[in-house]
Amino acid sequence: MEILITNDDGIYAEGIYALACALKKLGNVTVVAPDTQRSAVGHAITIADPLRVVTANRNGKFFGYAASGTPADCVKLGIKSIMKKRPDLVVSGINLGGNQGYNILYSGTVSGATEGALLGIPSLAVSLDTFTKPDFGPSAAFAVKIAAMMKKKKLPAGTLLNVNLPNISAAKIKGVRITNQSRTSFNDWFDKRRDPHGNTYYWMTGDFKPKDADGASDLNALRAGYISVTPIQFDLTDYKFVPELENWDIKP
Ligand code: MN
Repeated sequence: MEILITNDDGIYAEGIYALACALKKLGNVTVVAPDTQRSAVGHAITIADPLRVVTANRNGKFFGYAASGTPADCVKLGIKSIMKKRPDLVVSGINLGGNQGYNILYSGTVSGATEGALLGIPSLAVSLDTFTKPDFGPSAAFAVKIAAMMKKKKLPAGTLLNVNLPNISAAKIKGVRITNQSRTSFNDWFDKRRDPHGNTYYWMTGDFKPKDADGASDLNALRAGYISVTPIQFDLTDYKFVPELENWDIKP
């Protein structure tokens, strides 16, 4: 099995290393990831600048390719230029921080996997729902489990899997829930500050609290101690609204 790995936390992050080490059990792993932290770049790609790629070592050994681009750039580069064989699987992660609800629209992690799916390859995003004291062990183990299943089963064209894990020990994880994307988005605001020269600047911050009405959502699964697996897609058409829109008087 040929596996391409990326993530937006950059090639030197702890999570991508844990993922790459674990997935070696299933086959040949190629890591192509941003050379720096690129979280929340969404599905951005680089078109006005060249993409520089250098090899990256970790623990004194060759680890992968560090690119001066986004996760979507890295997946394109990996598949179209760096890998000798087309991958059987694209995995993006393990992200430090959950990717649930409308949050996934901003996520570089999910977009790395979305790019894989756009290119017709079974793809998976894996995120750990914490920003402090991460234990990537259970996430890495689950990534191996679901990746092995993705080899056996088929995803519909245009569908990818978005996986989130609570940051608790394997013994405390209650199980797996197949979830829907929550309708929660970041409640964000701007901290207005003053720099040493007296100029005003703003820094975005916020919180992300699940709504109880979200029922079978990714956020509620995590809150209850379950691994959340959400099948997502990138066709954004609102098919239900098409017939009504047909009736609008907008003919030229
Ligand atoms: Mn990230």
